[in-house]
Amino acid sequence: MTKIYLGDGVYADEQSGNLVLTTENGISVTNEIVLEPEVVSALQRFLTKLSEQEPPHQAGCICADCSGTNARRGNTRFNH
Ligand SMILES: [Zn+2]
Repeated sequence: MTKIYLGDGVYADEQSGNLVLTTENGISVTNEIVLEPEVVSALQRFLTKLSEQEPPHQAGCICADCSGTNARRGNTRFNH
């Protein structure tokens, strides 16, 4: 048994080389997602990409996107 609790009712397990994510309400499994190794790799790349992103703009940010009359919000990449 390799199942671990991630939080928020979500569990992760390993079965036959696949990552199995389940949501459980304390009585039974309510959802199950089986991720094959290739999919886990894609998820890992996604998480790495997320962790490398710049933090979102804060109120009072003075970067080029946020300051001045041409400020465009929400539709630009963050370039602080
Ligand atoms: Zn900004």
